[in-house]
Amino acid sequence: MAYTPMIQQYLKVKADYKDAFLFFRLGDFYEMFFEDALKASKELEIALTARDGGVKEKIPMCGVPYHAAKQYIKVLIEKGYKVAICEQVEDPKTAKGVVKREVIQVITPGTIMDDQSLKPKQNNYLGSITQTDARQIGFVVSDLTTGEIRVTLLQDFNSLRQEILTYGIKELIVAPDEDQNLTRDLDLDVTLSYENNVAVPTSLEYLIEPLSQSVLKETVSRLLNYLIRTQKRSLDHLQKAEHYYVNDTMLLDSNSKRNLELTQTIRDHKTYGSLVWLLDETKTAMGGRKLKQWIEKPLLNQDEIEERLSCVEALIKHFFERDAIREALDNVYDMERLVGRVSFGNVNPRELVQLKRSLHEIPVLKDILKNVDEQSLKTLGEKMDSCQEVYELIQRAITDEPPLSTTEGNMIRDGYNETLDQYRHVSRNGKQWISELERKERETTGIKSLKIGYNKVFGYYIEVTKANIKYLPDGLYERKQTLANAERYITPELKEKERLILEAESNQMDLEYTLFSELRLKVKTYTSRLQKLAKFISHLDVLQSFAVVSEANRYVRPQFSHDRTLKIEECRHPVIEKVMKNNEFVANDVVMEEECHILLITGPNMGGKSTFMRQTALCAIMAQIGCFVPATQATLPIFDQIFTRIGATDDLVSGQSTFMMEMLEAQYALTHATQDSLILLDEIGRGTSTYDGIALAQAIVEHIHHHISCKTLFSTHYHELTFLDQTLPNLINVHVQAVEENGHVVFLHKVKRGQADKSYGIHVAELAGLPHSLLDRATTILADLEEKKPEKIMDENQHELTSNDDVNEEAAISIEQSQVEEESEQLNFFPDQTTSKPKNQS
Ligand code: ADP
Repeated sequence: MAYTPMIQQYLKVKADYKDAFLFFRLGDFYEMFFEDALKASKELEIALTARDGGVKEKIPMCGVPYHAAKQYIKVLIEKGYKVAICEQVEDPKTAKGVVKREVIQVITPGTIMDDQSLKPKQNNYLGSITQTDARQIGFVVSDLTTGEIRVTLLQDFNSLRQEILTYGIKELIVAPDEDQNLTRDLDLDVTLSYENNVAVPTSLEYLIEPLSQSVLKETVSRLLNYLIRTQKRSLDHLQKAEHYYVNDTMLLDSNSKRNLELTQTIRDHKTYGSLVWLLDETKTAMGGRKLKQWIEKPLLNQDEIEERLSCVEALIKHFFERDAIREALDNVYDMERLVGRVSFGNVNPRELVQLKRSLHEIPVLKDILKNVDEQSLKTLGEKMDSCQEVYELIQRAITDEPPLSTTEGNMIRDGYNETLDQYRHVSRNGKQWISELERKERETTGIKSLKIGYNKVFGYYIEVTKANIKYLPDGLYERKQTLANAERYITPELKEKERLILEAESNQMDLEYTLFSELRLKVKTYTSRLQKLAKFISHLDVLQSFAVVSEANRYVRPQFSHDRTLKIEECRHPVIEKVMKNNEFVANDVVMEEECHILLITGPNMGGKSTFMRQTALCAIMAQIGCFVPATQATLPIFDQIFTRIGATDDLVSGQSTFMMEMLEAQYALTHATQDSLILLDEIGRGTSTYDGIALAQAIVEHIHHHISCKTLFSTHYHELTFLDQTLPNLINVHVQAVEENGHVVFLHKVKRGQADKSYGIHVAELAGLPHSLLDRATTILADLEEKKPEKIMDENQHELTSNDDVNEEAAISIEQSQVEEESEQLNFFPDQTTSKPKNQS
């Protein structure tokens, strides 16, 4: 037995799309068969059925209605799958044998264009890579919805990982023979796709033109060929590939981004509570996406930073103009994506009106910017090409409130096309003629309740109630339909009119569709001008957003130092300050003169150490994206990289032990940091025993001090480390203040010079609600330990740990002097409760 011709057709198509669910169009449904059906029915929670396919065993099948398909596709894409849409490409009525079917598009996580699946303020990135013999990696990232393509050459696997995470790439296109290790080691939540063809597609050659390195050309071509093969439609909105260099912007590895909660919070991965949330006063989706891009890649070039800052300053000063800009931006839609849809061919009439409304605001914006006293903003306004031709094209063609559909008419304005006007005339006149006929029929028959109606099956009809039939004259009326208490008739005259009306209406819809398509093509010729305009608008939107946020929260314009002085007065954590009620946040100065490299921060848990560290990093990032900073005065160096090791909330998920994670992150920072970097290390070493912990913490501090000399904030509960300021000239002790009141600890959150003298661990434990008996016992143990006064807790190996470093003489002596106290081993039982003071401090 053989499969039926339709199943054979299915299998033939499916063979080409093994890695996707094949949505096989059958009438009003997309059906799936075999394996696809088994899997899809589970993933989509829809009923699994079976059908005859010509062989003995029934074929598993499931399906989704055509009109609801979008929702189901969205679910599959979100789970990382691909969906191939296979349509009937000939009219089933005229087809001989099995209707011809073809895949018209493959929808994938990186190529989805559907509005419902896209987040307005987030790009949807697709990536592609090519490895060279020298183990370099050509990398390209593109957003099909906006058409941007960015390219760079990466030096190693780790950078690739960071870029994938930075862009939030959903799908990565690789060579079919890509090194299996590479893809496995990536260990990221990306869908892999394969594309072999790296020949430059002739029609899109111009996109690659700006690139010189062949590996980059190859990588972009891989991406383009994949898009051509899967999307099967115009890609005219793609923009020329832009070459970027990872070292042109501040490097923020994914851990640091996560730790600093730049785009989402650690706890629940929400935007609320993140830096992007705080800074987002953008009015447009494009601005929202640009803001995120800026936060992901802070600038290094001071001129570029100052230019942004000057604009922000001007927009704070010119609040009247700023409000006017915001008002205008309110009416600007997502032009970038609208333009993409125009070219992709899936724009609807309502979206064209949105484009028109957006364009209406451009002359307004240009006018406002003229009056702002800041050259960069003036220039920005001058550079905006208002594309009024596009505005007029749409204004002339499309009604103000068109329907969503392109096939049901009523979208083209009267007067736009003569033939269309004639069709409309016929159909409107026809309808008037019909109501006139109704009036006449009532008169001649004397039946007052006689009416003329219309339905899809019978067309126009004259309806007469059963009681009145006897008044109808004979002959003329042909019975069409019988209802419970009425009869419906037609007359030759009515039939003829109906033919004319329906013909005109159908012609009208066809013509409107044609006119719409023509208009779309005309608008499409403006693609690159509109895209440029969209860029300027999103840029302006972010700047005004910074101005709004900076003004509302009393931020100041940062200054930049060239001698690595870091001085932030009354610095606040911007997000905590925002969510805290009643201005309770305690501002702190962060002062690190040129020669101060390390701030060693001690103080009780919950005292505010990590907040202090984070706010410093956030200030640096805000300054380098061109925003004002939460302080009363701020001078910062321009940091090339920021490394953080803070907290460990979700380390469990990654399967690494906390301590291992800690060491990996420290290792990463120590090997990658330069003199111009900023390192934040929070409680390094707490994941292991006291001896190990202290030894490692001290060795790390010393390593940074001697070999890296970059600005470092190092918090620790090992008070033993505070003596390091005696030996390390570039280290300064600070502590977060806490006081005891009536036996309770009160955190003042104030950062002061010098080291803390108590750890308050037991009080924090009390705050956490541990049982009183336990707390009493801890107090006794503590008193016991204090009596024995273990002084500097140091390992015998201490010397060895640091002897490899070229420690200066002073330091070496101090280490020599330090001896491990015999009793100090006991500290292992209660490492956090040490209140010992370093010998040289007492
Ligand atoms: P630590 O790192 O010392 O354990 P955290 O920085 O985590 O302490 O801060 C503990 C809590 O104290 C945080 O929840 C924060 O809201 C609050 N806090 C920290 N710094 C301040 C401050 N400067 N002003 C007000 N509250 C603060």
